[in-house]
Amino acid sequence: MMITRFAPSPTGLLHLGHVWSALVAHDLARAHDGRFLLRIDDIDGARSRPSYHQAILDDLVWLGLQPDGPALVQSTRADAYSAALDRLGAMGLTYPCFCTRAEIAAEISASANAPHWPMAAIYPGTCRYLSPSEQAQRLADGRTAAIRLDMANATAHAARIHGPLHWQDAERGTIVATPMDAGDIVLARRDALASYHLSSTVDDAFCGVTNVVRGSDLVNATHIHRLLQALLDLPVPRYHHHRLIGDASSGQRLAKRDAAATIAGLRDAGIDPTRLIADLRVGTLPVGYCWISA
Ligand code: GLU
Repeated sequence: MMITRFAPSPTGLLHLGHVWSALVAHDLARAHDGRFLLRIDDIDGARSRPSYHQAILDDLVWLGLQPDGPALVQSTRADAYSAALDRLGAMGLTYPCFCTRAEIAAEISASANAPHWPMAAIYPGTCRYLSPSEQAQRLADGRTAAIRLDMANATAHAARIHGPLHWQDAERGTIVATPMDAGDIVLARRDALASYHLSSTVDDAFCGVTNVVRGSDLVNATHIHRLLQALLDLPVPRYHHHRLIGDASSGQRLAKRDAAATIAGLRDAGIDPTRLIADLRVGTLPVGYCWISA
């Protein structure tokens, strides 16, 4: 059975871009007699708010895009994320990283070969080869650690077992996964249960999601998720990275701070949700918004 999901983070109000994502996932499931699930991505405890969680539920009802069954709430899933982390750790593919953001930035800019953005965002590997006694010393100094994936080892391990990794993308065809470009990504932050990459991959498998629908801004994440699926023996869904919606005057994609574009804002502006959804289905946006192709 086809299973799709909409996975917003309750860190702000949903906007028109979220409506599009939810609609594509909803319609895909409905067209195949499948199930449309809701997942609440609240692993970032500092930024998530119960009021935004409630607003997501209310907005979906207003839009007529009710999910099938109750939402999976990521803050209840700590055990599953720890189990996945332990498994990757037991394979020797993770390490604790004690660096602060400031230290990472300083390390990158001090490097003679400091690459330009977006490569600059790649972790330089400072903590990758700390000895057990150096790790113990940092812990004794009261420093806390994030857990990173040792990307070179992880990709080599996956290649040995599975050969080249790829996924099927509804809009792009067969894509060869190149997770190496992301460097040693964080799997668990010191202040959160798990990273988006780990939690999303584990939960999509847990819910039996067959078709992952999300914005084209997340194609890079899928390279990483494909690797995690190989390492954790998880099924590989089909991916639909859809186009994004932007503000027509700036051409920039919508962000949570664009109050007018929120569903609450559209509701206050007297927009009829049935009409809005019918228009979106044929690619027509309300005045003031534009499509941004990937
Ligand atoms: N919570 C993520 C977001 O809102 C979900 C992305 C995804 O669909 O995987 O960007």
